Amino acid sequence: MSKIETAYFSMEIALRNDIPTFSGGLGVLAGDTIKSFADLEAPVVAVTLIYNNGYFAQKLDAHGTQLESLVNWDPQRTMRLLPQKLELCLDNHSVWVQAWLYEQKGVTGHIVPVIFLDTNLMENYPEDRVITQQLYSGDSSMRIHQEAVLGLGGAKMLDLLGYRDLKTYHMNEGHAAFLTLELLARLDWQDAAVRRHCVFTTHTPVPAGHDEFDYALVQRVMGTYTPWHIKDIAGRDRLNMTVLALHMSRYANGVAQKHGEVSRRMFPDFAIDAITNGVHSVTWTAPAFQALYDKYIPEWRREPERLAEAAKIPDAEIQAAHLTEKNKLLAYIKEETGAEYKPDILTIGFARRAATYKRGDLLFTDIEKLVRICGGKVQFVFAGKAHPQDAPGKEVIRRIFTLAQKLRLENKLQVVFLANYDMRLGALLTAGVDVWLNNPIRPREASGTSGMKAVHNAVPNFSVLDGWWIEGCVENVTGWAIGPQAVENVLVENSNDEDVRDLYAKLEEVLLPTYYNDKAKWQAVMKNAIAQNASFFNTHRMCKEYLQKSYRTDPVTVG
Ligand SMILES: *Cc1c(COP(=O)(O)O)cnc(C)c1O
Repeated sequence: MSKIETAYFSMEIALRNDIPTFSGGLGVLAGDTIKSFADLEAPVVAVTLIYNNGYFAQKLDAHGTQLESLVNWDPQRTMRLLPQKLELCLDNHSVWVQAWLYEQKGVTGHIVPVIFLDTNLMENYPEDRVITQQLYSGDSSMRIHQEAVLGLGGAKMLDLLGYRDLKTYHMNEGHAAFLTLELLARLDWQDAAVRRHCVFTTHTPVPAGHDEFDYALVQRVMGTYTPWHIKDIAGRDRLNMTVLALHMSRYANGVAQKHGEVSRRMFPDFAIDAITNGVHSVTWTAPAFQALYDKYIPEWRREPERLAEAAKIPDAEIQAAHLTEKNKLLAYIKEETGAEYKPDILTIGFARRAATYKRGDLLFTDIEKLVRICGGKVQFVFAGKAHPQDAPGKEVIRRIFTLAQKLRLENKLQVVFLANYDMRLGALLTAGVDVWLNNPIRPREASGTSGMKAVHNAVPNFSVLDGWWIEGCVENVTGWAIGPQAVENVLVENSNDEDVRDLYAKLEEVLLPTYYNDKAKWQAVMKNAIAQNASFFNTHRMCKEYLQKSYRTDPVTVG
């Protein structure tokens, strides 16, 4: 155990669909990262919270209103409770924390232990037993309790479990930044000493996305864990978790090159590098493509960069594998909605958190035009959850859902909205459609990862130039861009009008004619998506960058 050098902290981790302790991209990235570390035999331990009721399960009523229910799952089926318990003092009383161990095994058998912290103990008051009940639920008092358990509790638990002498604590997003307070207490309140041990990844390109707490609340909940100079290291007016993490880290990065740039402008006092995200190749490659890669590029499971050799795979076999996966999705659509989608019709997918900046309903800006261009020629499939407190996000779902029903009823356009977007549906969608659509408001998509899942299944992207797609898009070669080039003035948001005009125009003038009239060209783009995108946008490449740039401790770089 003592050989482990790095502790990876994340508020959410998505390792598998039956461990529903995640809401979306951040969790999936964390899960994929841990899987690649296991494959690469990296000396890493991970820490997160257990969420006995997960995030939430989504159903939609007849009007497209999102209905939320608790998720019931049993951690004992996949992990084991450890005997160690520790005591935190929050809100001036004891809060006990226990830990579950999940072992992520890599291709060679190497294990990355994942510690799930849990406050649901008999010893705790009822209000403390629910701290680890649900992800992103409750008010800011709940949030600070959760982050105290994650950061302080996590750092203390690692010590208790024997993970001493860790060289690096990696805060994956600011939620875990309270771990620096525990390290300060251990290291004689020397900022510089803590900084030698911490690294940080920011994921949020909008100021409002960074957790902040009133100092009154901080004092009440964190009590004596709050160091005397907290306002020097975490912000004058309110405690900002990102500022705290940046102050206390020897290395910090954003999650795509553009996001690094945006983050440097948001936090000009800090050096912020960029490591572009990836996905875990084996996890997100559908069975038919796994078989194909095993046959032609057998090394791909250990070295996904070898997917660059996709030219070796005959076109006909890629087509057959794609059709297999497409038919699985179409069968699921039939089962869920009754819609009879056809395998020879261009199918476009869009699934993501229904946050308004993702503009899930941008496609429906001019419905007449959309129907004229796509009627009878394109089938659309949507999915996505809105945060329970995100009323505008829920409105976007309702709008897409009701439009989908109306357009289908009137026989004008095939559109469906599938409920309960999770890892399983994500895998089905990103392998089963012909094109993966993304049209966020620039520059708000820090990276985006669902499009990287698509390219592992020969599904090209059609996307606004933001996040990873700025790096991945070679127009007409790996896929297609929507709207203008990514400009220097990164904080100016783009207009809906310009993007939607380009979206319609490219659908009509490029995607449809290519798909229906130039099969060879379409095949080439599919193959290039594998060869040029999947070979790079995977967590094996990403984890190696973390090991080289973020986790390296020799020579120690003090920020
Ligand atoms: C991959 C994934 C995401 C992240 O996708 P983005 O493109 O970053 O929006 C979110 N939710 C689920 C269930 C996923 O599988």
